[in-house]
Amino acid sequence: MNKLMLPDFQIRQRDFLLEISRAITAQLDLSEVLKRVLHASVIMLAGRSGLIALRAEDDIFYVRALINIPTETVPKLNEHFFELSQALSQKNTIENFNQHLRSITQVIDANLQQAIAMPLIFAGVPLGIMIVFRSYQTHVDGNDMQILQSFADQAAIAVHNAQMYERIETERKKLAAILQYGADGMMILEPDLTIGRFNRALERITAWKADEAIGLLHDEVIQWKKRDGVDIQTALANGWGSKISPTEDENPLYVEGELLRHDGLTISVGITYAPLLNAEGKLTNVIAHIRDITNFKRAQEMQNTFISVISHELKTPVAIIKGYAATLSRPDARWDKKTIQENLGVIEEEADRLNALIQNLLTASKLQAQGELSLTKTEVLIDELAELAVERFKSQTDKHKFKLKFQSPYPMIYADETRLRQVIDNLLSNAVKYSPDGGIIEVGGYATATTATFYVRDMGVGLSEEDQRHIFDRFYRVDSKLSSKTQGSGLGLYLSKAIVQAHGGTIEVKSAPNRGSTFFVHLPRV
Ligand code: ADP
Repeated sequence: MNKLMLPDFQIRQRDFLLEISRAITAQLDLSEVLKRVLHASVIMLAGRSGLIALRAEDDIFYVRALINIPTETVPKLNEHFFELSQALSQKNTIENFNQHLRSITQVIDANLQQAIAMPLIFAGVPLGIMIVFRSYQTHVDGNDMQILQSFADQAAIAVHNAQMYERIETERKKLAAILQYGADGMMILEPDLTIGRFNRALERITAWKADEAIGLLHDEVIQWKKRDGVDIQTALANGWGSKISPTEDENPLYVEGELLRHDGLTISVGITYAPLLNAEGKLTNVIAHIRDITNFKRAQEMQNTFISVISHELKTPVAIIKGYAATLSRPDARWDKKTIQENLGVIEEEADRLNALIQNLLTASKLQAQGELSLTKTEVLIDELAELAVERFKSQTDKHKFKLKFQSPYPMIYADETRLRQVIDNLLSNAVKYSPDGGIIEVGGYATATTATFYVRDMGVGLSEEDQRHIFDRFYRVDSKLSSKTQGSGLGLYLSKAIVQAHGGTIEVKSAPNRGSTFFVHLPRV
């Protein structure tokens, strides 16, 4: 068969091209379009068979469409294309290319005489190669090349479209996954603020199910109990999201506050709204990003309380010390010995209080930084430590009577003495502070074969069950008239517990409102 025998090949070429471009615009899948291109090329060049190989992301060519070539040969052909790809990347000579082409032709059929190859190029980027094989050898003229070129161009467009579509599809899937599985709440709003998308994290944050929320208006789902900043409705009404200059980026809108969840609970959230504008600068969507900031708020509140409590705690003893010292040093006054002694006593007491507070602060920051406390253990006699502490506290109060009740002999334990003194001081100081009417404060201890226990008992205001659950928390102070006029940082019991736990022990309280409290510390003997 000779191509010149085709009388109307130009008309046929045009018809083929039309058919192919229709296939491309009909968005048939790529394999189908490649097959049609190949079919048209083989017929128009009066060939026997043909193939199209496409360049993948690794820059290697792989066979993607075949006509009249057995599929079993594909692995072998791919091997040759692999070598060909490498030869091309090394900018080898045309002879080298022709040699590869000959080998490829031989793999397909030993009777094939000629191979006409045409690269598929889109915008200067090589996307693949099309080869038509003939069973006879004849001169390849400009006309042949022009025909093949016209089909190759069509194939290149289809490949480019397919690759673009694939890239868009991958991006779309990535974005959908980020939206759906991201740790933060996300929703996509229409310009009228109807909810279009609602992710899982947002279901958790708001207690709304995505199915229920989608289709509702933003305000039906996002109900503020308290809010800082302009709400999205007002912002839109004021022109937010309607960019005038196309070069300007619209600033995201941030709103923070207490959100009323679907189940009636409240939660602290921060919402960032970002407008999505089209080429004309018109709002097409609003992307809302919702973050649960409850923990952050709580930590912030704690920090604020901490700073105000600590500064108050530090200021009070310093003011007292300064006042007494100033009185004593007045040049115009002559104080009797007793007054001087009393005043110095107060100064010493306040200095002790300051010292204890600083000690607690240092321990707290160490605990915060290291997660646990390091101990320097030596042999410790708790009953002696308690006795010394009682002596110190005795001088600070007239209202209380102290009683020591340690079993004798009381076992010596292996522990960090400084830290245990801190625990005893904290418990004794609390016993004094929270029994404002005075009474007996008993410090005692007993032991079993494995445990050494000591306790501090007072006859003070006691604690409700609810408060007993929280008093060992950091910065927790019972909300009462007494606590508000009593100095304290809410750190003493928290640190005492950390110290006892670092020793492998436990601390517990037995108490009832107005029935006094007893704090027990159990420490392992070994
Ligand atoms: P603070 O510095 O406020 O005393 P603590 O951590 O030592 O901090 O104690 C936490 C809270 O537990 C106190 O504010 C107080 O309300 C309560 N508390 C502690 N000890 C006693 C006690 N012996 N009797 C009654 N309430 C107590």
